[in-house]
Amino acid sequence: RDGLCITCGSSIGIARFPYDGDTFETLLNRAEAAMARAKADGRNAFRFADAEVDLDVGEHLRLVSELRAGIDRGELELHYQPIVHLASGRVGAVEALVRWRHPERGLVAPGAFIPLAERSGLIHPLGAWALEEAAAQARRWEARGLPPLVVSVNVSPVQLAQGELDVVVQRVLAANALPAKQLLLELTESSLVGDAEPLRNRIARLRAIGVGLSIDDFGTGYSNLGSLQRFDVQALKIDQRFVRGLADGPQGEAIVRAIAQLAASLGIRTVAEGIETAEEAQRLQALGCDAGQGHWWGDAMPAAVFTRWYAERFPDHAAQVAQR
Ligand code: C2E
Ligand code: MG
Ligand code: MG
Repeated sequence: RDGLCITCGSSIGIARFPYDGDTFETLLNRAEAAMARAKADGRNAFRFADAEVDLDVGEHLRLVSELRAGIDRGELELHYQPIVHLASGRVGAVEALVRWRHPERGLVAPGAFIPLAERSGLIHPLGAWALEEAAAQARRWEARGLPPLVVSVNVSPVQLAQGELDVVVQRVLAANALPAKQLLLELTESSLVGDAEPLRNRIARLRAIGVGLSIDDFGTGYSNLGSLQRFDVQALKIDQRFVRGLADGPQGEAIVRAIAQLAASLGIRTVAEGIETAEEAQRLQALGCDAGQGHWWGDAMPAAVFTRWYAERFPDHAAQVAQR
């Protein structure tokens, strides 16, 4: 107007369902916070709600193609952390945790690439590979003389919400002749929010196959107690922040006791995560937790290291393992 030139720009904040939130309010708030960062960074930019991977598009695309190539080249590995029954000390299960053996950066932790995989869709091939590898490993251990172990595999909300997880699970079990009860899927609380028909059907199809379900990091997200019963979960993993919280005295204990009692009354097992000391293990058992995992017994380790760890801990099996 009047010969003035007006320049418009835009600052965009991006929040994505279900990764950044599962309610309209959460998504809107996170998108607004991301937009505020785009403005603070000089405007005319976009930012993702997840600041950790707030990369420019070029960097993002480079990392995605690097991860895709890494998956194709077989650079992913599963490491296994023992899950210990607190009362008996027996180990009947392990959790499979993915790592990326990067040619230059060394062993990369999942926190550095799972969010990227979720955003790019690579979580589908990655997740299918993890299920296949974990199932195959469970069978390899049996062939080496270990008793049948349950393998617990982490499943991203994206895998549950899209794609055909039940088809993948069924294929993997059949290909490895692994009984369904030896596979447990670790879902996050946010996976189970809402009781939309499609989600219920997906969960029902998984349960019909016979695999177990557990809720990971319980108590950190949008704890929907109703969903525990509705979705027929077998186990609940008490997040390590509550284990650390035991140091805070009676209040910290009260939270763990309440979770353990609630789970027990619904017939759900509890597994405490991130146990680092003998004292923590004892207190968690006294508070009613069934099982635990953490540095105290052993970190996630390569399959062959776990085989030796197991044989040393349970000498009855050592002889059998040595013979094979
Ligand atoms: P998570 O499933 O809750 O796994 C527990 C994390 O705690 C693991 O970190 C484990 O190494 C760590 N941890 C175990 N014991 C202790 C302890 O005593 N103290 C402390 N401070 N930490 C302990 P990690 O391996 O870095 O995995 C991080 C997250 O990445 C996992 O959390 C899981 O959400 C995700 N993840 C790992 N593997 C996969 C996968 O195959 N697929 C998907 N979708 N997510 C995965
Ligand atoms: Mg887990
Ligand atoms: Mg966890």
